[in-house]
Amino acid sequence: MFTQAEDIRLVIPRRALEVVFDECDRYDTDETGGRILGTYEKRGDSLVVTVNGIIEPGPNAARTSTYFKQDGDHQERVFREIEKREPTVEHLGNWHTHHVNGLRHLSGGDIETYRRTVEHRNHNIDVFYALLVTERQPRKTGGDRYFYKNYLLRRGDPKVYEIPPSALSLTHDPLVWPSGVAPQDSLTIPAGAADEILKRNRVYDRDFIDQFYPRLKSYQSRELGVYWRGPITLIDTSTLEVVVLEDASGGVPAYRVNLRECPEHLSQFAEQFGARDFPSCRAALLTVERMCNYALYEGHHGKKRRRKWMF
Ligand SMILES: [Zn+2]
Repeated sequence: MFTQAEDIRLVIPRRALEVVFDECDRYDTDETGGRILGTYEKRGDSLVVTVNGIIEPGPNAARTSTYFKQDGDHQERVFREIEKREPTVEHLGNWHTHHVNGLRHLSGGDIETYRRTVEHRNHNIDVFYALLVTERQPRKTGGDRYFYKNYLLRRGDPKVYEIPPSALSLTHDPLVWPSGVAPQDSLTIPAGAADEILKRNRVYDRDFIDQFYPRLKSYQSRELGVYWRGPITLIDTSTLEVVVLEDASGGVPAYRVNLRECPEHLSQFAEQFGARDFPSCRAALLTVERMCNYALYEGHHGKKRRRKWMF
């Protein structure tokens, strides 16, 4: 569905990412987004796309977890103001987030909309740039707290280009918009948002575990806080005893896995999992199950020396 871009360079000021991530923090259950301003130019064989502004979605934007419509009138007013000061600035494209719905790339609907825009005669330039926030990174702060991807569509070219991280440069350049606002410290997630994430996670986890891991039970202890414990069944019908601990001390909850009485051939994973934070209990369980099944499968079908990994 996506073509790796080989001739596109992308320049993004860190301040632009801060504006985007702050907006994501504010709408943690709904999709949100905004317009991206900047310039683009041909340099040799490359196309250089430089971001220099983000226009907020506006007071009349509509949002749900799967739908987002910007306040176009507001955005156009802002754009006309900026244009007076900075005549070279263009509407490069849009950004929006999927961190609330789990889809880690542009949807078919997104592509259709962007395709229509780039082919539209009122779209002033021959490219459309899209930044997509895909995921929150548990426990990470500042510019690392979300994963994001970059795409470009070109007029008259049916491909959707994904710009690899290696083609991206982050700068400390100022923005033309939002302007006049001192960069604020965005290291903290609002207290209310963290609480909401925790509550929602617990509800999703409960439903998911009831359906897919019915032998796992949740517990609460003074010492450990909230945790889940029980056996999960692996591909070779053996069972693995897992404990998933919730840690809400850092604001946004993180989840850690312990494998109890872990068979030797899976012990390499016990260590790996123990050192890793997961964004939910269900993410932790799915990862453990898949990785262990993979190890078992590899042990069975892989090199002979691995045979001893099988029960
Ligand atoms: Zn989307």
